[in-house]
Amino acid sequence: MKDFMKSVISKSIIGQDKVHVGLMQYSTTSRLEFDLTTHYNLEGMLNTIDDMEQMNEGTRTGRAITEVSQYFDAARGGRPWVKQWLVVITDGKSQDNVREPARALRDKGVVTYSIGVDKANSSKLSDISGSSQRVFIENTFDGLKELGTKLALEFCEKDCKIEKADIIFLVDGSGSIKKEQFKSMQTFMASVVTQTTVGENLTRFGVILYSDAANSSFTLNEIYSKGKVLEALQQLIQPQGGTYTGAALAYSLQYFNAKHGGRREIRVPQILMVITDGAAQDRDRLKAESDALRKNGVTVISIGVKDADRKELETMAGDDTSKVFFVDNFEGLETLYKKISPVLCNTTKRAYNQTDLVFLLDYSSSINLEEHKMINFTASVVDNFNVSKELAHVGLAQFSDKPKDEIHLNTYNNKTKMIGHILNRPYKGRAKVRKLRRETKNNDH
Ligand SMILES: [Mg+2]
Repeated sequence: MKDFMKSVISKSIIGQDKVHVGLMQYSTTSRLEFDLTTHYNLEGMLNTIDDMEQMNEGTRTGRAITEVSQYFDAARGGRPWVKQWLVVITDGKSQDNVREPARALRDKGVVTYSIGVDKANSSKLSDISGSSQRVFIENTFDGLKELGTKLALEFCEKDCKIEKADIIFLVDGSGSIKKEQFKSMQTFMASVVTQTTVGENLTRFGVILYSDAANSSFTLNEIYSKGKVLEALQQLIQPQGGTYTGAALAYSLQYFNAKHGGRREIRVPQILMVITDGAAQDRDRLKAESDALRKNGVTVISIGVKDADRKELETMAGDDTSKVFFVDNFEGLETLYKKISPVLCNTTKRAYNQTDLVFLLDYSSSINLEEHKMINFTASVVDNFNVSKELAHVGLAQFSDKPKDEIHLNTYNNKTKMIGHILNRPYKGRAKVRKLRRETKNNDH
C-alpha cells in the first residue's frame, strides 16, 4: 500500500499552487498522517509515508470518511474550488455504514475512488465511490503498481473546458424565489459562463426567465462576448408570479432554432439548463415538453433547489439521473458547477466524436517505399475513432497524378471492416501501384 501511494504521489506535481495531498490512516479510529497543507514538497510526503505504522484494529470506513471530509474544507486548508479527490484503499469489509458518509462527501464535490485489495467486495466498494466506474480491484498488492499509473493519469486529465455549445438557461423567477436566492442563481449561471469559451463560433448562451409565462431575455445570437453575457446576467429582473415550468419548456424549444442562433444543423451540442425551486403548476406537461426538446437534439439538465421535487427533475432530464442536480440551498449552487462540468463535458465531447475524417494518401512514385508505413499509420489513426453511423465517418482517397476515391464517408460504419480494407489493400509495391495508376487513367473519363 505504501509503495502504491508513493507511486501515485510521485507522478503528481506537488506544490503550493499545484497538487496538494493529504493522508489519513484508519481502522477503528482514524489518524491523520498529514493534511493538505502539511507538505508542499514530494520528499516530505514520501518520508512520512515510510515512517507510517499500521494501526491494526477494526475497520470503520464510514467513520473515517466522515472524519476525512473536513480536510477538504477551506477552513482546514482544502480548496473547494479546485478538483478534489479521495482515494480509499481497503478490503471493503467495513464494520459500519459507509453509504451515507460517502454520499455526503460526494455531495461536496469530492470525487471518490475506492481501491479494493485482498478479495475485496466490489459492491461495498461501489458504496464508497458512488459508481462502479471508480472502483478498482487488485488481487495482489503488486497489481497496485500498474494501477498507480492509471490513477495518476486520471488525476492529470486537464480540466475540461467546454469549447463549443449552445446553452440556454431556463430560469424559474416565480414568487417563491427569494431575492437573495435569485442572486445565487445568477451567481451559478455566471460560474458556468466564466468556465466556458464564449464566442460566435464557440459557446453561445441564451437566457429565458419564466413564472406564469416565459420570456426570452437574450437569445443565442445576441451576445458573443463573455463580459457582455456576465453583464446581461446581472441585469436580469425576477418576474414573480406562478411556476409554469411545462409551458416554459415548450417555449424554450424555438430558441434553439437557427433563427435564434441555434446551431443544431452543424451538430453543435444543444443544452437546456432548467433551474427551479418548486413544484410546477403544470407538472403533467413536463414529460411531453422535455421529450420534445430531446427529440430535437437538446440535452435537458435539471437543477433543483430548496424544495424541488426530485421526480419532476428526473422527468425533465429524461429519467437520466446523471443529468439531475439537487442542492438543498441556493448557496450550494455556487459549488455545483464543479459537479456539473463533467456532465457538460461528456455531452459536448460526445458531439465532438461526430467527425468526418478523410485520408488522402500520396501514391506518387517518390514515396512508394513508404507505402507499408503509411498503411499502418492510417489504420492506427482510424483505430482511434469511433467509426459508426452516428459518430465518426471516415473516407479514404489516394492520389498520384490524379486523386482516386477509395472509401467514401458512408462506405463503412464498422471500424473492423474499414481497417481490414485499409490493411488488405489489393496493391502493394511499386509495380502494382503503376498498374493501378493505369486503371485509374482508364476509369477517368
Ligand atoms: Mg415557484
